[in-house]
Amino acid sequence: MTDPRPALLAATRDRRACTGESHQALTALHRSGADIRAIAAADPEQAELEAAATLAVCRIGIQGAHPLGIASLHPEPHRLTMRLTPRPYVVRLWAEALLPCHAWDAHTRTDPRDRVGGVYGLRWHTTASAVHLYRPRTPGLLRLTGFPARWWPRAAAAAERSRGPLVTGPDWTPDEHAAEAGIRDTALRPTALLSPLLRRIRATAGTGAVQATDAWAAYGGLRLETMDGPPCAELARLLGPGSCGPGWTAASAWCACERPAGREGCVMTLRTPDGRWTVNCTAQRSPRTAADLAALSAEGDRRAFA
Ligand SMILES: [Zn+2]
Repeated sequence: MTDPRPALLAATRDRRACTGESHQALTALHRSGADIRAIAAADPEQAELEAAATLAVCRIGIQGAHPLGIASLHPEPHRLTMRLTPRPYVVRLWAEALLPCHAWDAHTRTDPRDRVGGVYGLRWHTTASAVHLYRPRTPGLLRLTGFPARWWPRAAAAAERSRGPLVTGPDWTPDEHAAEAGIRDTALRPTALLSPLLRRIRATAGTGAVQATDAWAAYGGLRLETMDGPPCAELARLLGPGSCGPGWTAASAWCACERPAGREGCVMTLRTPDGRWTVNCTAQRSPRTAADLAALSAEGDRRAFA
């Protein structure tokens, strides 16, 4: 009998590159009958939640060992489990980015999107091993794992001290409802790009010690910036029409990956199969070294819950 492992390893190579899941975990899923080659698309409300979270987390510009601080993730249609880097500063940054808060000058603002920050409607509770982020009376769940769940309330309290009062009621507030209605299905938050990207965020990671992935809405789609990310050809393959990819195709590229100096200033445009959206990718080199990162992280950890 032939050993099935090499075939399984080859079959899951792209998925592992996109999600960071272990071969063992995927083998167990395979045994339970799941399709481990593909990455499931999110259900509609789940996708909205993921899109909102992606924009918020990108805004803080984490530079760390993993893109957006995500060491691995496990995508399912109705929820997304993300294992974060187990560092207090990463957990603090996530809490600060995601949790909705009242703007300090809300009384002077007329646009509800300026009156409340973070992910509108987001609430949380902790379990023994995870933080659950959800929106009341709305399907969808983000599970954060990989760190002591008791860090989260401390990070939330610290975020409140720095940003102002968090929105914590049992239901959406009228401002949150209005703000969400004002951004949903607009070019300000292209859910059709952001959710598939988050579900494959490890595809934006290279081999450097300091990873930084940034994405923001731009006219007609997204800008995606990687630091010390993968070679353009690898990124295009993982985000392309393969079994794991979202099916985006490269429309144009200026690539320096093969040049002796390497990587500086690569640009690539990807397009969704329906031609509706584009993702403009740029690759930079991180100016930071592993030693810089260690020093910054230690300082961030020291102040994480202050
Ligand atoms: Zn390139």
